[in-house]
Formats: sequence, structure tokens, C-alpha cells
Amino acid sequence: MIEYWNPQIERLPSVELRELQEEKLKKIVQYVYSHSSFYRKRFDQAGVKPEDIKSLNDVRKLPFTYKQDLRDTYPTGMFCVPNERLVRFHVSSGTTGKPTVVGYTKNDINEWTKSLARALTSIGLGRGDVLQVSYGYGLFTGGLGLHYGAEEIGSTVLPTSAGNTERQMELMDDLGTTAIACTPSYFLFLNEAAKKEGIDFQKDTNLRVGILGAEPWSEEMRKRIEESTGIKAYDVFGTSELSGPLFTECVYQEGIHIWADQFLVEVIDSDTGEPVPDGERGELVITTLSKEALPLIRYKVGDTTILNSEPCQCGRTHPRIMRILGRVDDMLVVRGINVFPGQVESVLMKIPEVGEHFMIIVDRVNEMDTMTVQIEMTDAAFSDRVNDMISLEKKVASSLKSILNLSVNVELVEHGSLPRSIGKSKKVIDKRVL
Ligand SMILES: [Zn+2]
Repeated sequence: MIEYWNPQIERLPSVELRELQEEKLKKIVQYVYSHSSFYRKRFDQAGVKPEDIKSLNDVRKLPFTYKQDLRDTYPTGMFCVPNERLVRFHVSSGTTGKPTVVGYTKNDINEWTKSLARALTSIGLGRGDVLQVSYGYGLFTGGLGLHYGAEEIGSTVLPTSAGNTERQMELMDDLGTTAIACTPSYFLFLNEAAKKEGIDFQKDTNLRVGILGAEPWSEEMRKRIEESTGIKAYDVFGTSELSGPLFTECVYQEGIHIWADQFLVEVIDSDTGEPVPDGERGELVITTLSKEALPLIRYKVGDTTILNSEPCQCGRTHPRIMRILGRVDDMLVVRGINVFPGQVESVLMKIPEVGEHFMIIVDRVNEMDTMTVQIEMTDAAFSDRVNDMISLEKKVASSLKSILNLSVNVELVEHGSLPRSIGKSKKVIDKRVL
């Protein structure tokens, strides 16, 4: 039995959904043009007026916006409302540059909550569930975003925030956590810690759902997690500029539903700016259709993905984007070849002897790029025989070569020696840029 939070809108026939988008697109373009000097200037430079947007396809006439625009107008230069209408600020960490500030009106918070209420319902959560939110709370959007969505659908929230693993496990047990939200790396860390304590998530806890995201992870990693812990692991997507976590997969796990009445999604060819057909990889571009404080028009999220506009088996008509394997920024260029850490993860997780933790080290030796992948073996695969180790290294190197088309050094390291993370994990060390 499929549950919906808002069946009428979630199952709206595609034609009507597009009509609704068109109407909302025209409105938001008019709105940003009249409320934000940033957008007015940007549109004027591009020679486009709100009246030029007559149909959904006309979205292509509009200029893109970028993360850099948010940085250039720091803190609130792109906002469409005066500060006294805001009920909240979130601020990015600024680890990769100047931080970005996002403001929310009361209505923006409601829309965010609505998006997650639909998403959490679509993975089978509701009244009676206990959602342990192990994403950080505070300026970071992860914690509070899921928190409001879960409360909205009547689930009980356990706001543990990130860290303090012992207490996380104790509370999970004492309060009957049925779902947990955290990064996939942290979930792996928790699982490892639980095993050490002799706790089996499947047998000894009520945990059945993981809402994992805030860093890219592969389908193969999902299989690993589901098989080793017995939970269903769902991908969650969002980005702080749009408002943190917003969307998840549904129970069919065939792409992440983007609520089309709130967001217009495009997948484009980065070189030409033209849309790519459904099923082809391209760059993700999102326009917010309901936001008041900081609407984003054709925002280049920085992710590559694949669009699927076909209605889903779950009955929802809203388009889906396929799992995101990595940000455009995460792409490494090694000896002229593009490598996404997610590709490496996909290859490694298919090899049963390889554990879940790995590290990619890129360097330049004698003017030549080198790439080394450090891997831990699973306990079960551990062997004292040097020959076994060497043959495993060879096996991994050859699997990586066949997918990446690149020769890679593989190093087996001791179990537990690679860093564990309570938040977003670091999987790449690029010594060329240090
Ligand atoms: Zn679905």
C-alpha cells in the first residue's frame, strides 16, 4: 500500500503538472525581476524581460545563476525580501570558499517542510516512527530540515545531531529508533561501532530505514549497507543554497523525486547549455518556483545526473533524478582522464574482499600524475598469506583500470587505519594542489 502526503498534487497528471509549472515560472520570474536588483540587472544584461517567458521552454532564455553569485552578493544581496520578513538564516561552512547565506520567510520554511513531509511519507515513514536525526543541527541545514519534515508527518524526532556515537547507540536502543538520518560514512562508522559492542542492527534494534546523504555514495555502497545491516537505505538530495535536504527516493529506489510544483529541474549539456534527453548524463539546473526570500533562477547546482520524466511505479508523476555520483567540483583529472571518486567506490564495492573505507591519493611524480587507492579488507577476507594480498591488489587494480581506463596503484592497509568520519567523509587527497 503506497502512502502519499498529498495524493492530489503528487499524482497530478503530467500535463497538468506542467501547466502548473508554467504558471508558477512566469510568476517567479516577474517576482524576482521586480524584487531583486541582482536579478533585474542580470536579466537586463541578458536582454530578457519577464514578458518573454510565455511557456516552460522559454526558461532557456533566462540566464543561469551560480554559487559564485551568492558569494559575490554576500550576505544578502540577492534576497527578494527585506530582512525583517525573514524567520531564519542558514550559512554554509565556507570550507570551499566564502560562505553563502540563505534566508527563509515563514512560507519558505513551510514549503521546505512540505517537501520533506512528502519525501519521508514516500519511504514509508509516519506516525509511530522514531527518526534519529544524526545530521548536524545549527547553521548547517541537514538537522533542522529533516526535523521539521518528520514532525509534520507525526513521526517522533530524536535530534541527536552528529557525533557521540556511544550515546547515539544507547538512545537508539532505549527509545526505539526506526529510522536514522546521517551521512553514509557516519552510518558505516555507527555500524562498525555497533558490531564491536556485539549489536546487530537487524536483530537487536528497531532500525529499518536509513536516510543517507550530504555526500555522494554509489549504488554498490547501498547494496553493501542494506545487506550488512538489514535496513533499507534511501538517498536524500538537496543543497544548502536551495534549502538543505529536500528530496528522497521513494520505496522503489529508482531515482529521487523532485517536487515539480516547487522546483523546475533541467539537465543540460555543460558545453552547449542545451537540455540533454531523458536518460543521458548532464548538469543539474534547478529553478525554485515557490521561494520568497531567495528564489534561485536556473541555479547550476554543480552536480551531474540523469533525468527521468516518466511517472514512477509509486504513482507519483514528479520527475526523478538518478543518484548523483559526484559534484562537478569533485571530478579529478588524472593524466588527462576524468575520474569521479564515486566511480572508484562503485568498482571497489563490487569486490567482496574490499571493505567500505578507502582513500584516493593523487600526486605528481617526475611531471607525471599518479593515483593510489588505499583500501581496507573486510575482516573475513583478511589473510596472513602475502600471496593472497598481492593477488587481491592486482585484482582491484585491474578492475579499476577497466572502468577508469587508468592505471592505478592499489595499497592494502590495515583494517581500521583509514580515517572514519562523523560527517562528510574525505575520500581524496590531491597532493598536486596542496
Ligand atoms: Zn516513486
